[in-house]
Amino acid sequence: MKNNSTDISRRTFLQKLGIGAGSALTAMALDPLHAFAQETNKTTLLGDDNAQNKMTYRVQHGSGEKISLLGFGMMRLPDEQEEVNRLIDYAIAHGVNYFDTSPMYKRGINETQTGIALSRYPRDKYYVATKMSNYSQDLWKLDEARKMYENSFKTLQVDYIDYYLLHGVGGSGMEDFTPRFLDNGLLDFLLKEREAGRIRHLGFSYHGNVSVFDFLLDHQDEYHWDFAQIQMNYLDWRHASLSKGRRHDADAEYLYNKLDKTGVQAVVMEPLRGGALAKMSDELSQRLTALRPNDSLASWAFRWVGSHPNILTALSGMNQMSHLEENVRTFSPLDPCTEAENKILEDIADVMAGFPIIPCTTCRYCMPCPYGVDIPGNFTYYNEAVEQKLLPLPDPKASDYKRRTKKFAKGLRKSLPDASTWANRCADCEECLKKCPQQIRIPNQMTRIADILKKR
Ligand code: SF4
Ligand code: SF4
Repeated sequence: MKNNSTDISRRTFLQKLGIGAGSALTAMALDPLHAFAQETNKTTLLGDDNAQNKMTYRVQHGSGEKISLLGFGMMRLPDEQEEVNRLIDYAIAHGVNYFDTSPMYKRGINETQTGIALSRYPRDKYYVATKMSNYSQDLWKLDEARKMYENSFKTLQVDYIDYYLLHGVGGSGMEDFTPRFLDNGLLDFLLKEREAGRIRHLGFSYHGNVSVFDFLLDHQDEYHWDFAQIQMNYLDWRHASLSKGRRHDADAEYLYNKLDKTGVQAVVMEPLRGGALAKMSDELSQRLTALRPNDSLASWAFRWVGSHPNILTALSGMNQMSHLEENVRTFSPLDPCTEAENKILEDIADVMAGFPIIPCTTCRYCMPCPYGVDIPGNFTYYNEAVEQKLLPLPDPKASDYKRRTKKFAKGLRKSLPDASTWANRCADCEECLKKCPQQIRIPNQMTRIADILKKR
């Protein structure tokens, strides 16, 4: 039943989750944060008495700031600034106050767009997150890293950063983390910046090798992480480390529970697992629509994530107004999943984990490929073919073997009309390998796709 109030008591909330009140460390607040009024040249924003703002909030440990449970992932912003402003205006008017960007997104343009849109608002009305990114090994030098850090203040037009992250830690284990953050004094520098108040909350975004995650949290007494960003959704909860074709070695359940025990709040990325949870097979999706006919598949995934009390905010990369509107509805207020609903999602995840999908989130960090391969395009189509049950291919002797291989090639042509972007153009140069936060073995996966094409 839809909950009409943000005033869900902690006990009720935890009961719905099937979690004992004593098991969670997180302080929660589900009160609405009122929107505010501001006149700009282009738009009049909604005022304090805005009845539409029923957003659900969580409280940041220590500072007591109220953070909207729906966070705005800026990575996929449209190119036009007017359109960006329009999205941000709608988000802020409806209570969203956490905005996540990085100097890496669109080579800095994304931070600039974010700065332009947010700086039209009073500084205490939004929380901006950006990152110490890693798009070049030059950034392992303290001077270069500091330049990027200082530049973020300029592009975002701020004199403090609310949430600052060590971006993408863990990909290659301590082997990369040690020279990138420890040996060069960069982490010490950032800790001092937090002491000086230029960074309000310091955290890291984790991708990959759990030894780094464990190292960072096991040194919590020294580093005092304020938050950590992890990939979490109902598929990765128990199946991240089993996903085919990647090297993740811990499930989201492990990551979340360790953060909870350590008292570090989690920011969630990829709540839809790169869109995979928003477009599953009819067979699976009907199990959900039968229960809540008006709810989208995406809203189930967001409700599942938001139901965990140690989540500070769940990021959604929203580049279309319709997505933003729908997500705002889901979180205004959040209706947590019941135990029975959690069980259904768990069953669906078990079925999906049996599919040989490639866990690409279409982030495009791996692009461009020097040989012209559209890496996310090939993976997106491959996953669609799995959902349509074209893949995995049956035994070559099976009667529909040829039909399915031909249909696969036809579908790829439709999806990627330019054949020079197909997987069979991969030259195995491995340039993309280190760039993928999902640790996908990209060239191996390209070979698998190319092999199917050969069989047509
Ligand atoms: S390994 Fe293949 S897909 Fe990756 S960059 Fe090289 S050619 Fe492109
Ligand atoms: S292959 Fe990896 S880096 Fe490339 S788009 Fe997919 S998830 Fe992102």
